[in-house]
Amino acid sequence: MFSVKTAYHAFHKENTNFQPTGSADKWKWMWGLNLPPKLKFFIWRCSRNGLATKARLFHRKCAPNPTCQVCNNPNESLLHCLLYCPHANEAWSSIFPSLPLPPQDSAFFDWIWDIKDAISHEALIHIVFLCWNIWKARNERTFKNRVLWPPNVCLQTFRERTEWSSIPRPPSTNDASPTQLRGTHTSTNPPPSNHPLMIHCDGSFISDSQPATYGVVTSNHHGQVSDGRAETFLCSTPIEAEAKAHLEGIKLAQEYGTECTVFSDCQDLVKALEKDYSGWPWRCAAGIGLMINILRNNPFIKVNQVPRALNVRADWVARSKARSTLPVNWISILDLKSDLL
Ligand SMILES: [Zn+2]
Repeated sequence: MFSVKTAYHAFHKENTNFQPTGSADKWKWMWGLNLPPKLKFFIWRCSRNGLATKARLFHRKCAPNPTCQVCNNPNESLLHCLLYCPHANEAWSSIFPSLPLPPQDSAFFDWIWDIKDAISHEALIHIVFLCWNIWKARNERTFKNRVLWPPNVCLQTFRERTEWSSIPRPPSTNDASPTQLRGTHTSTNPPPSNHPLMIHCDGSFISDSQPATYGVVTSNHHGQVSDGRAETFLCSTPIEAEAKAHLEGIKLAQEYGTECTVFSDCQDLVKALEKDYSGWPWRCAAGIGLMINILRNNPFIKVNQVPRALNVRADWVARSKARSTLPVNWISILDLKSDLL
């Protein structure tokens, strides 16, 4: 019986000189990644330069020019589209500010292959989700003229990746997968058995002559907003405002009494909660001590850092509160606009 697979093997057997593009190990590794099938297919298309970018269409005489319709760059290559177009680049620098990007003329898959050992498996999965969402956003912009907003791309990536990671699945049986050999996603990052609530916090500090504000936004793993807090208070530095916002987020998690992850975009604060806060301003010390105490007594509350670009909702709440423009029904507005923010 004919199948593509048997034809491929027959062809391979007959032609001893025939070599598939790239080594077989690379492809085996790629298809063994812990990704939804559509994303495996997407990454394979990228690896074969198979996306219908303007440069590709122009080369095949299917487009009048190779110009990028988003930024008017004269050559919309695959790397331009996914990494270097300004909106894409903004998304990369907000989520992976220190990730080395490849030279513009290099091959996409070579880049993935080069960086895979330097980053965690989780980060690699996030990279593929980000490429996918940048491509989708570029298509929405090109074909439907929709506004392309990088924070939205980052947020959508985060949602999709979180949802994918939260699906319980048995360990892969693909023993040859280097990921499996490194044992990263099966041993150190088991998928959670349920969906913790997500609580995003942000503080806003304009000057010490004005009250500071905080915004706390609670959402489920689909990004649907269910609750939140916003208040004004007095403090004298931005870091105090961040600490206050985070304390309120942790208190809210404690009230819920269920599994919660409290997010802050303040890396120093998250580090202080994990290790040592002795170097912090003394005005924050009591608040941080209180947070550590709550976390110790409520192990179902986790604390995590989130890039600024993914904390847009808490940031919007805090800043609107500071400007006295926060609508009374802001929680339902945030939920309705969950695709915009
Ligand atoms: Zn462009």
